[in-house]
Amino acid sequence: MDAHGQVVALRDATGMFFESARTAFPGAEDAAWARAAALDPGSVGPGGAWRLDFRCFAVARPGGRWVLVDAGVGPANGPAAGWAPVPGRLPAALAEAGIAPGDVETVVLTHLHEDHAGWTSGPDGEPFFPGARYVVQRLEVESLDPADPVRDWAVTPLRAAGRLHEVDGEHRLAPGLTLLPTPGHTPGHQSLWVEQGGGVRDVLVTGDVLVHAVQLADPSVPYSHERDRATARSVREALLVRAVERGAVLTTAHLTRPFMEPDGQDPRGSA
Ligand SMILES: [Zn+2]
Repeated sequence: MDAHGQVVALRDATGMFFESARTAFPGAEDAAWARAAALDPGSVGPGGAWRLDFRCFAVARPGGRWVLVDAGVGPANGPAAGWAPVPGRLPAALAEAGIAPGDVETVVLTHLHEDHAGWTSGPDGEPFFPGARYVVQRLEVESLDPADPVRDWAVTPLRAAGRLHEVDGEHRLAPGLTLLPTPGHTPGHQSLWVEQGGGVRDVLVTGDVLVHAVQLADPSVPYSHERDRATARSVREALLVRAVERGAVLTTAHLTRPFMEPDGQDPRGSA
């Protein structure tokens, strides 16, 4: 099991992106691509394809409870089915980690893209995590297109069930767990800072602040599906500086290595 202290990586799916790596990350220099291939060799697919994971993270809480960050691509009928590999395997990954859906007290949605909100519901439309509250930035909900499938799949049913908790800006989720607004990828994107204490390094659950190792090799490299490239770049650069200063480890949703060093150094041996 891939874990760093109390933070457990849960891989929901792996697949090839619908654009080549060089189309998805325009303008990256050859040196950045070479560094990215060394940092995350699993991301190099055949013929220039971008192979990516779709990953969630669980953070242990007292009493056998868990905070889950992101909800993956979801079941076969989930909102990401048009382009992501579904069904995801999050239910099996949770079972392997000894986490029952009922043990999840909070689901943090870093943002409302289809591949991060899949397991808000199971295939039958019932809440997959029966006792969880779902925490999302209010701005993210307000910015969601009325026709976005995540609205019907997640936002509307969670709100109707009283499970949607919208927060504004930096937010203390629980002792040692702080939500940080990290806009750019989407307007209301957020990341989770996990202070572990006891000599264990802090973990920064980044969400989609960076989605490929080429953005770790060169944080100025844009991603073609960022809503606001300039904001995404400045947020990414500032967040990585903060992580280095505080000695934190990063988690990534879409690299094929769940834990990475924020300074773009080789992560082997760090986890
Ligand atoms: Zn994503």
